[in-house]
Amino acid sequence: MKPAGVVRKVDQLGRIVLPKSLRKRYQMNEGDPVEILVQGDHIILERYRPKCIFCGSMEDVNDFKERYICAQCLEEMTQLS
Ligand SMILES: [Zn+2]
Repeated sequence: MKPAGVVRKVDQLGRIVLPKSLRKRYQMNEGDPVEILVQGDHIILERYRPKCIFCGSMEDVNDFKERYICAQCLEEMTQLS
């Protein structure tokens, strides 16, 4: 992890503005979901990518009734029946 060379103040509501240059570099657009992760003393922002509810994979994930499942887990489930 390295500093982005930017210091911003948190406002009254806890908001921080991400500089346009960072949003552009990391392809974060208005309305995109962002996941907040913590690691020790660090707060990390990541573009949100849905994960399989069973194995946590982010590969080939589809939503089903507002839950996410990967193709491999779906295949394993179909073999159960
Ligand atoms: Zn899975």
